[in-house]
Amino acid sequence: MDHDAVKRKLEDALGEEVRQSVPMRDYTTLRVGGVADFFYETNQIDKLIIAIDCCHKNKVPYLVIGGGSGIVFSDAGFPGLVIHNITSRISFLTEKNQVMVDSGCTFSRVVTESASRSLSGLEWWYGIPGTIGGAVYNNSSVSNHNIDEVVKNITLILPPDDEHPAQLKQVSVDWMNYHEHTSKLREWQQPKPIILTVLLQLRQQRRDEIMERMQESSKKFYPYNLTDIHHSAGSFFHIAPEEDVNIANLLKDLINKKLNIGDAIVAKDHPDFIVNLGNASASEIFQLKELITKAIKDSGRAKIVDKVEYLGIWAK
Ligand SMILES: Cc1cc2nc3c(=O)[nH]c(=O)nc-3n(C[C@H](O)[C@H](O)[C@H](O)COP(=O)(O)OP(=O)(O)OC[C@H]3O[C@@H](n4cnc5c(N)ncnc54)[C@H](O)[C@@H]3O)c2cc1C
Repeated sequence: MDHDAVKRKLEDALGEEVRQSVPMRDYTTLRVGGVADFFYETNQIDKLIIAIDCCHKNKVPYLVIGGGSGIVFSDAGFPGLVIHNITSRISFLTEKNQVMVDSGCTFSRVVTESASRSLSGLEWWYGIPGTIGGAVYNNSSVSNHNIDEVVKNITLILPPDDEHPAQLKQVSVDWMNYHEHTSKLREWQQPKPIILTVLLQLRQQRRDEIMERMQESSKKFYPYNLTDIHHSAGSFFHIAPEEDVNIANLLKDLINKKLNIGDAIVAKDHPDFIVNLGNASASEIFQLKELITKAIKDSGRAKIVDKVEYLGIWAK
């Protein structure tokens, strides 16, 4: 099907808000990446479901993004529909200390609204960029706290196949099979299920104590002299050092070699951050991460795996 025909099908299902050739750099915190053929932003759960059903019927690849803070789109962009999830309802189930949130809610907003009701458990994430959906997908962890401490269950939509339409499914947190910085959804081949809502189990605590921890947490996310022109996607790697290796020193040895490719550089005070100084391409970011990965592997002193995801078409 040609592009115009696909656009018509998407517009029939989703309305005229479907856009064409949208730069993904505008929707990611690292600010790199080419265009998505089609782009659709929605704050409605049912539109997420309609979007993936329509993509399936018309054989259009799709993916959903939230805050774009854990991904790198290739310079070639994405050949299909990128769905920008900005669903944002939050409901408190006060007697049970639970909160039901749409997956497109920003994590920091959920922390703030929970804290204002004296609900504790999320404050370690205060200041983290991105959405609850992205954090649950990514098995997010901060300061020795892991997302499975607070997630009770998840409602997701399983992608349609030739025999079944898209199906709603409620799963417990165990279904996510969180292990070693990954999750069942991270490992799932495209097309992937989409997280629609998340039920969080919190607990009552004094508000001033929660607020204090929030203040402490917020300092952690941008402590690295990063400014508005230093775009980032946070930590790029999980590095598991051999027992006697100080990973910071190992990385600093590499950084002293002044690792940079164009405007893609390794952050000065935080060597597992790759930063875009302003005009880096996705390819330069990718080459730099490959260089670091190879150097760590060649050292034979640590294991290294990607933390951010590389989306779109990448040259082999
Ligand atoms: C400065 C900085 C500091 C950071 N520090 C940390 C940290 O301390 N700990 C940490 O864990 N992370 C950290 N991150 C990474 C980032 O914040 C997390 O990965 C975040 O949880 C991603 O959420 P997002 O909404 O931005 O997801 P996106 O980047 O938009 O997407 C990430 C992945 O999740 C998938 N996804 C998103 N929403 C959904 C959904 N509703 N259903 C199914 N799949 C979905 C996307 O398809 C994609 O594969 C940091 C990032 C930055 C920029």
